Formats: sequence, C-alpha cells, structure tokens
Amino acid sequence: MTSFSTDRSYAQGLDAADQLAHFRDRFVQPGWDDVIYLNGNSLGPLPVRTQARIAEIVDQEWGVGLVRSWDKWVHLPRQAGDMLGEQLLGAASGQVIVCDSVTVNLYKLAFAALDYRSGRDVIVTDDDNFPTDRYVLEGVSAQRGCELRMIHSDIDDGVSERALAEALDDRVALVELSHVAYRSGALADMAKLTGLIHRAGALALWDLCHSVGAVPIELDGAGADLAVGCTYKYVNAGPGAPALLYVRDELQHQLRQPIWGWFGQRDQFEMGPRYDPAPGISAFLTGTPDVMGAVAVEEGARLLAEAGLPQLRAKSIALTEYLIALADSSLVPLGFAVASPRDPARRGGHVSLRHDDARQLSHALLRAGIVADYRTPDRIRLAPVPLFNSFTQVWDGMDRLRELAASKSYTDIPPEQPLVS
Ligand SMILES: *Cc1c(COP(=O)(O)O)cnc(C)c1O
Repeated sequence: MTSFSTDRSYAQGLDAADQLAHFRDRFVQPGWDDVIYLNGNSLGPLPVRTQARIAEIVDQEWGVGLVRSWDKWVHLPRQAGDMLGEQLLGAASGQVIVCDSVTVNLYKLAFAALDYRSGRDVIVTDDDNFPTDRYVLEGVSAQRGCELRMIHSDIDDGVSERALAEALDDRVALVELSHVAYRSGALADMAKLTGLIHRAGALALWDLCHSVGAVPIELDGAGADLAVGCTYKYVNAGPGAPALLYVRDELQHQLRQPIWGWFGQRDQFEMGPRYDPAPGISAFLTGTPDVMGAVAVEEGARLLAEAGLPQLRAKSIALTEYLIALADSSLVPLGFAVASPRDPARRGGHVSLRHDDARQLSHALLRAGIVADYRTPDRIRLAPVPLFNSFTQVWDGMDRLRELAASKSYTDIPPEQPLVS
C-alpha cells in the first residue's frame, strides 16, 4: 500500500486489499442510493441468515409446531449465551445467558452483589457512564440504603486507574463500569481495573454494550465477576433483542437475584409451592424468553465468529485509524477535534468528533445521507462496522462532513432541533 493520502483512490486501494470485504453480502442491503450507514454501534444491520431463520421460526416453528416448539425454544437462552460466551466473550460455557434487557440485568446483578457483600454499603460507578447504568444504580442504592459513589471520568478518555483507586475502600461492595465508553469509545483495561477492584474486596460488574462484537473480550481471563451487554449493537441481533448476562462460575450459587420468576426455578414445570432457584446460570432467568431475539443473537454471534474476532478487530482499527487520519487532515482545520483516545489499543469500535455546532451538523449529515449520531454536549459519533462498511464509505462520509462544515450549509437547522436517537 502506498503511503497515506487523502484521495478517494487510497480508500479504494484499501478496499481492494480487504479480506473481509465479501462479508458485506451477508447482510440485507438497505437498497438506498447513496446513503452511508455509520451507526452500527446503535443498531447493527440485519444479517441475511437471521432474516431467513426468523422467517422459518415464524412459519414453521410457531405457525406449524405451535406450543410443541417450546421443547427446543426453552434451551435458547443458554444456547445463545454459550455461543456468545465462547465465541465473543472469552467465557467458558455455562456462565452466560441471554435474557431481558441490559437495564433489567444490571438491576438483578447489582442487587445480588449487595447481598453477597453484605456489610458493605457503597456502589461505585463513573459520572459519564451510560444513563441507564447510572439510573439503575441510583435506584438500587436508594432502595437498599446505600451510597452511590461517582468517579469523575474524562469524557474523552474514560475512567483512569487513579480515579478508580481513589474511589475504593472497604465499604465498596460493587464497582460497575463500561468496558467501552459510549460517548468517546474509550476502552478500559478490564484485567487491570478488575484486579484493583478485587484488591479492595469488591465485585466487578462490566457493561459490554459497546464492546461485545467489536473488541475481543476475555471475561474469564480478566477475572471479571459479572457482566451485562447489548446484542442489538455490534452483535446485530435486532431492535430490542435480549441482553447478555454473565456470572462467573464460582459466584453463581452464592448470588441470588431479586426477580424470582418461574424460568429461574429448579423444576419449572412441577409448578411447586415455593421458589427454589435452578442450579447455575439459569437462576438468573426471570420469565418467558424472547425466542426470535435469542435466535437472532445466536446467528449474529455465529456470523462474527465466522469472520474471526481478531480479523474483525484488525479491520475495525484500520477503519478508525483511517477515519482519524482524514479528520486530522481535513476536519481539524474546520473546527473539529478528535474526542476519542488516539491509541487504537485504548479505543473501541467508534470515533467521536467534537465541534461547536455538532448538533446541527448531525442533522445535516442525516439530510445528506450519512447516518451517524449526535451525543451531548457537542459530539458526533461515527462507527464504521468492519463486516458492513468499506474504507470508501468512510471517505465519502468524512468528505460530506467536510463539505457541510466548510459551506456552513447546516445553519438553517435550528440549534435546538429535537433529537431522535
Ligand atoms: C446501549 C446501552 C445500554 C442500553 O440498555 P438497554 O436496557 O438495552 O436499553 C446500556 N448501557 C450501555 C453502556 C449502552 O451502551
């Protein structure tokens, strides 16, 4: 490859050499003319195989099999969990299930962790963590009479080891952190921070929403205790698909989650008089699982595993490095700044750019056919997804952003235009 150039032909050269380029055909093509999707960190695209499997479930398993199909559906939360665990999370089987939403799973695990570390009355998270994480922990703390201790984190750089260390003491029961920060994409050192948390005698709960399917994860290797994560972002399982929940093997029988439902019951169909939790990870289930969603998780994970997580990560880094190089050469002179870590080893799958008029620019981008998103206070997030996006699309997206900023053709958009997503 010739040395970096801002010409579009350079992007075309990178695409020609891209070993993963053919995976684009494994997704349903939206059929838009001239629209570029750089928002796979918010809602991943639809894999062809998933579309076919869901059709098969609707037509055959539901339409014809009816209630008899529960014989196999009932295993889906564990089956999809093991697929995720083994392929994407570095978790041995029996430690991951797919159920409920991230929000509900956070509640279940935070609540259980407080009982496990009874005598301790502090939960720690950071002030730039994703809203639902902060709200759930605020609620659990209020309900349990605990203190919610907020680490101040840098909105571009994430939680520092020092800031975490300062928040830890022998009152801390649980620390909950995002592996990849939703705004900046800052990637935390899971093993190192988990070690720090353990030395203080607390449990570590990781939110993997912006990392699962984007960066290799080693939950077992890092010694993580608990984890939750989305499947509709980089796992491409579709809107509202069920979330993942991980509990380290040794902890499973020691933690009791607060929602005692019949799917978490030992002999579910005995319909017994009292709740008696199932052994293992199944105790973290609540009620009837989302069948279509769980199947989509399984297919999504299968597709990413087929491409290979190391290959996927290598292309993701190449795409974001390229995006940053283009930003430096053509957007920084127009008032933009890179608002993500520059070291690719410290960055997840997306890049944030700062600009005073980011909110208006994000609406203008959408109007110009580039799907990216705005995040407060003044950030535009761009997520080139390795199996779906090309280097040429990154070039085209960045070129349109440059054009909009240079021509100021976004100034007709009211600065307070409501946000949709
Ligand atoms: C997307 C996201 C969520 C979403 O939670 P839901 O319960 O699925 O709505 C939670 N946490 C983080 C860090 C996220 O990025």
